[in-house]
Amino acid sequence: MTIPNTALPNRGVYLDNNATTRVDPDVLAEMLPLFTEHFGNPSSMHAFGAAVGGKIEWARKQVQALLGAAHDSEIIFTSGGTESDNTAILSIIEAYPKKREIVTSVVEHPAVLALCDYLEKKRDYKIHRIPVDNKGNLDIDAYRAALSDQVAIVSIMWANNETGTIFPIEELAQMAKAVGAVFHTDAVQAVGKIPMKLADSAVDMLSLSGHKLHAPKGIGALYVKRGLRFRPMLRGGHQERSRRAGTENAPAIVGLGAAAHLALTHMGEENTRVKAQRDRLEQAILAAVPACFVTGNPDNRLPNTCNIAFEYIEGEAILLLLNEQGIAASSGSACTSGSLEPSHVMRAMGVPYTAAHGATRFSLSRDTTDAEIDHVIAVVPDIIARLRSLSPYWEQDAAKPKEFAPVYS
Ligand code: PLP
Repeated sequence: MTIPNTALPNRGVYLDNNATTRVDPDVLAEMLPLFTEHFGNPSSMHAFGAAVGGKIEWARKQVQALLGAAHDSEIIFTSGGTESDNTAILSIIEAYPKKREIVTSVVEHPAVLALCDYLEKKRDYKIHRIPVDNKGNLDIDAYRAALSDQVAIVSIMWANNETGTIFPIEELAQMAKAVGAVFHTDAVQAVGKIPMKLADSAVDMLSLSGHKLHAPKGIGALYVKRGLRFRPMLRGGHQERSRRAGTENAPAIVGLGAAAHLALTHMGEENTRVKAQRDRLEQAILAAVPACFVTGNPDNRLPNTCNIAFEYIEGEAILLLLNEQGIAASSGSACTSGSLEPSHVMRAMGVPYTAAHGATRFSLSRDTTDAEIDHVIAVVPDIIARLRSLSPYWEQDAAKPKEFAPVYS
């Protein structure tokens, strides 16, 4: 069997870990026997099944530990972040049919936003989309005003995937609880990067995704606090205590368990070495490149994420030239219907168009080396200078004072 090999660089600098991460070799090693040796169906009444069942329960305990949850039964394995987000919202609106309002934020991932758009248009739900300020912080007054006993569920992300900005989840959860609303958080970007203790928290539901923390793609989990009303999205067999039907993806579940275990072990490193690398990269770029600034809240964000807006150039052009240097990063723009629009997150923060187009996200991981950071620092200023030399807007506007500079300095 030959699978086509699309050209990959022999050696690349991978700084797109918020998009996905490399499966840790130790995670893969734990998974492999489940394909060939421990391949039984965990529901089967024989030793092949039992061997797998035990491994799944081990994995559940690892995820419980990473989240600081009180009970392992609060963890439901799913196919990833999108399924977990959809399940949380759909479950709660079905459990509370008389409550017709949902609160979310303008900067959520499409896994939440697109579902809310659908519920608004097709099922007549009232959706409160809470705005953010120019640093990506949630407007707490608008949030407070949106809360009422009509709200079935609040779904607010723990940390933003583009900027890394962290929301005050505990405070938001307590406020939701005070009006009797269920509080769900999409913590896909936060899990494994910052400590969590859900046992002592007002958070009712939490989504996570394996491929953001060095486990494979297509596996995730939904945390559901014990005692919460829950309606399954997938109905069928009795897997996952009848909360998520379908034969378990046992290799991936074990992979997620191993990844959760490793994430807990490496949490300190993420918050020291990785953070120091991120800060060094950011400071060096800011010092060497004129007319660029950090988007999001630099004082309260994930330790691995840095998003820099370079004025007067397109993020896509930056990515292409970075790619030529073997560097993988991500742009803040989404190519919709043929036109390059800045992302909804950049627009929500009010980042001017001239800068939002050049927003570039560098997201590190524990795989990132100092030499890789040196390489990026060495090439970015030249790439930006080269692109700006081709930009008519840069020529025209470079000398003008930037009215937003004080805000984004
Ligand atoms: N939520 C956030 C914040 C994400 O960043 C992502 C993935 O990019 C998702 C949800 C979707 O997760 P998955 O790819 O596992 O469906």
